Amino acid sequence: MYVYADNAATTSLSPKALEAMLPYFTEEYGNASSLHTPGQRAAEAMMRARQTVAAAINADFKEIYFTGGGSEADNQAILSGAYMGARKGKKHIISTAFEHHAVLHTLDKLKKEGFEITLLPVHENGVVTADDVAAAIREDTALVTIMMVNNEIGTVQPIAEIGAVCREKGVLFHTDAVQAVGHIPVDVKALNVDMLSMAAHKFHGPKGVGALYARKGVPLVNVIEGGQQERGKRGGTENIPGIVGMAAALKESVENLDQDMAYVTGLREKLITALSKIPHSRLNGDREKRNPGTVNFCFEGIEGEGLLLWLDQKGVAASSGSACTSGSLDPSHVLLALGLPHEVAHGSLRLSIDAHNTEEEIDHIIQAVPEVVDYLRNMSPVWDELERGLTPHLI
Ligand SMILES: *Cc1c(COP(=O)(O)O)cnc(C)c1O
Repeated sequence: MYVYADNAATTSLSPKALEAMLPYFTEEYGNASSLHTPGQRAAEAMMRARQTVAAAINADFKEIYFTGGGSEADNQAILSGAYMGARKGKKHIISTAFEHHAVLHTLDKLKKEGFEITLLPVHENGVVTADDVAAAIREDTALVTIMMVNNEIGTVQPIAEIGAVCREKGVLFHTDAVQAVGHIPVDVKALNVDMLSMAAHKFHGPKGVGALYARKGVPLVNVIEGGQQERGKRGGTENIPGIVGMAAALKESVENLDQDMAYVTGLREKLITALSKIPHSRLNGDREKRNPGTVNFCFEGIEGEGLLLWLDQKGVAASSGSACTSGSLDPSHVLLALGLPHEVAHGSLRLSIDAHNTEEEIDHIIQAVPEVVDYLRNMSPVWDELERGLTPHLI
């Protein structure tokens, strides 16, 4: 048995989404900007997709801008908020230390351009509070950007409350909801957000396509200059198959949301209960305030990399955190932001499951992980020192 438990990195393409996409690779190949019939058919397909995506998050179709994925949507939202603020002399931005690199690296770039960035610390449970945000807002704050669901540990942030604080203080608010959309309810009005990013491949849509929601009246700057596509805010011939596939996958996810959330949460709880029995292990992030499918553990005395390779051999595809940092030996910036020591943060394991996983697959993971942890600890000099009491256990 081989179990795919890395859905936070990417998901399989839903058969329904594939089916919806296929005609747009073959007979329906028109350019949506063309005035002839094939072009207009493409434009109509895109309009239907825009309405579907908008409806899924309680937005108006005019508030949806298709992008080349989640990273691009994050870049566009943050640059828009920053440059709009700068025109009014506001050059302060608030975010958190555990955002995705699409956010953190965009903020790095703005810092070099003279913006001042406040990265709020994350509490030990992996949650930022609305009070933290309220205390950090200043007269010159242009933008607050805080993710809805953390991609490494799965904790859900109080976005509606943070949004209410931002509204009250008149500060623009963006949320990276890439891990949330299609997995938990997302209603842009209830969340009090001005901008929100999503990516199709995180909810069984195709890769390389996403969307930015920008509330009416929020002026966007371009990341990609070009023609008048996306109301002039994103140049380039639209990825019609991708856009159609994203809408189909999102519609399917939202239709099944309640039952999938209940099912996946059940599997996740079973997983957490079983893995918590491993001695000197630690669940990262609040047990309740988390999205249905993401689980992140640290196991003292072993390296995350070895764990992943051996789990792969045992038939489990997992991750040591963000797919973007695997390959580097640096501990995860997310776990460090929670205050974990370097030694502990090295031994992390992220399992991200979803409604496509079966109960048997969860049982397979529950059997494989303790075996691999045991095996690696038996070979680990660090574990040996811990066991002989030469160094103190940290967890
Ligand atoms: C995956 C992810 C992104 C990046 O999305 P891409 O479509 O891969 O560019 C951004 N933010 C979060 C939280 C993610 O999980």
